Amino acid sequence: MESNIQEKVCSRCQQPKPVGEFYKDSAHKDGRASACKLCVKGAATDWQTANRGKVQSNVWLRKNKITRDEFTALYEAQGRKCADCRTPLSTKVELDKKRRDLICPSCDDRRKAKASVERQLNAPARARVLPTTPPSELVALLKS
Ligand SMILES: [Zn+2]
Ligand SMILES: [Zn+2]
Repeated sequence: MESNIQEKVCSRCQQPKPVGEFYKDSAHKDGRASACKLCVKGAATDWQTANRGKVQSNVWLRKNKITRDEFTALYEAQGRKCADCRTPLSTKVELDKKRRDLICPSCDDRRKAKASVERQLNAPARARVLPTTPPSELVALLKS
């Protein structure tokens, strides 16, 4: 039996540490992750901090019921730009769940406004609520 105080050099901090300081990872030959626990935790914390409120945050992904892979595929397919106005999407992004595309918050507002106008116009006459939006803006919305 091998000694259990084997050391391994962390790929991140370059410190030799006992293997117990590395997470188990079956993807690696020696059964341990290449970076030590401290570095792995540090990286996770950095990532969370860097992405707080940003496009790839887990909260955002959960809210939009989309996986990171799906998000990345969409994001790259759209050239990292808003599907409507082509503004580069950086920190703020909305997913249009019907169309499955990514848009900036102002385009999201515009699409929602447009959808609600369309709903009002398509409603049965009896149930129709007169839009509160001025007619000129309605026309502009429906054209956009
Ligand atoms: Zn380390
Ligand atoms: Zn936009």
